[in-house]
Amino acid sequence: MMRRSYRAIRIIAAGAAWLLCASAAFAAKTQNVVLIVSDGLRWQEIFTGAEEDLLNDTTGGSWLPEEDLRKRYWRASESERRAALFPFLWGTVAKRGQIFGNQAVGSVAQVINGMAFSYPGYNEMATGFPNPAIDRNEFGPNPNPTVFEWLNKFDEFKGRVAIYGTWNAFDEIFNKKRSGLVMQTGWTAPKKPHESASDALLRRVYETLTEVDEEGPPDALLQIPLLDYVVTAKPRVLFVGYGETDDWAHQGRYDLVLDSAHRFDFFVKQLWDTMQAMPEYRDKTTFIITTDHGRGSGLTEWKEHGVEEKGSENIWIAVIGPDTAPLGERNHVAPVTQAQIAATVAAFVGKDYHAAVPRAAEPIAPVLESTGNGFASIVALNALQPDQTLGPDNLKVYLSNGAGAFALPAYVADGIGPLYLASADLNHDGLPDLVSADYGVSLFLQTSAGVFAPPVSLYSGGACRPSLSAPEKGYIRLGPAYCGPTNQLTN
Ligand SMILES: [Zn+2]
Repeated sequence: MMRRSYRAIRIIAAGAAWLLCASAAFAAKTQNVVLIVSDGLRWQEIFTGAEEDLLNDTTGGSWLPEEDLRKRYWRASESERRAALFPFLWGTVAKRGQIFGNQAVGSVAQVINGMAFSYPGYNEMATGFPNPAIDRNEFGPNPNPTVFEWLNKFDEFKGRVAIYGTWNAFDEIFNKKRSGLVMQTGWTAPKKPHESASDALLRRVYETLTEVDEEGPPDALLQIPLLDYVVTAKPRVLFVGYGETDDWAHQGRYDLVLDSAHRFDFFVKQLWDTMQAMPEYRDKTTFIITTDHGRGSGLTEWKEHGVEEKGSENIWIAVIGPDTAPLGERNHVAPVTQAQIAATVAAFVGKDYHAAVPRAAEPIAPVLESTGNGFASIVALNALQPDQTLGPDNLKVYLSNGAGAFALPAYVADGIGPLYLASADLNHDGLPDLVSADYGVSLFLQTSAGVFAPPVSLYSGGACRPSLSAPEKGYIRLGPAYCGPTNQLTN
């Protein structure tokens, strides 16, 4: 391949102040985790879409007529371009999850191995720390166990941790011999004891297709046994490695870099849809999607990567799943590293890899906590009791930004004299929502951390002021009102 080189948000009631608590550390709903890598896919394409200067034969090596290529991938704005290239990533993952690495908006994701090519990158993400001895792709068997090998030792995961990747070097990186992981890699034809007609057809294709790249097949050939394996064997922890985005860049074919990037996005969607349709995976599966290294920039260096090509250390990391707050494209956040991926994979399935392997970097906290940082935030009502004057009041949301530290309050307009407040995740998006009671009852849906949609009036009782009790699972009890019966607010 020419790879040259928390559970959230219990509300603790105390007077009129409520705490939005994230209990930190581990995800609660995720039971299965999938790490997906598209080799050498630049953050530039992820965040800005196709690069105009490369949409031609001269600098982009395109065999496709420029006009056709532009029709496929060129759009006037960055946001349209990236959505055209990666419809699932931007239409679903970035809406319901988080994505790091857009340096233009203050989010940096990097490899720390100092080499910025494949084996050092896969080693860093899979073991949690760089190994300076690994200085070539032909390094041989990885001396350090990966987080996948580590997880496979637990009873609940044993035999259900798998590596599916096009590159044959994954056999060494994940140490096939020692780790005993389920592996489908390189040109090894998928074999089954009892072959169906389509199994036999797939095996014949593997056995007879011209090996344009002797290190591995096209991505589409991996997708077939991958989906079959997921449906039949139901793995708990899965690694998926696609290679074409790197291969075509090394070949200097920007048209095929874009086509394979677009297909990669489709393959991720296909895997997501397949898993979400299965009861074993629905609403309890997290995807971490990333790349092993960046590449150079400009008219020539986009083809290659490594220490020579400046910027090759820059990557991107996206996460979607039931425990990750929908904060979308992250901006102005602390940098994240590739080494953090290993402990993040483990944390999603409830295991503390960093404690077991202290050299490994800590998990990426913001994707594991529904409030985004693991500290409790506070919501207060500012109504005075007894009312001094009647006038519009507010909820005050103090988002935590560290232990015992809070941002300046964000005000959310409420009605007249709100007196009661309760919180529960009423629309099941992982973010706690608020219900306040004044002389009516209003619902404030939290759309991203500390941001609430305009209130929806649930009850406009006028003279009756209902009380609200602490939430139970997914609903808030509308307590005895000053008048009227007890009710429940549910969605
Ligand atoms: Zn690579």
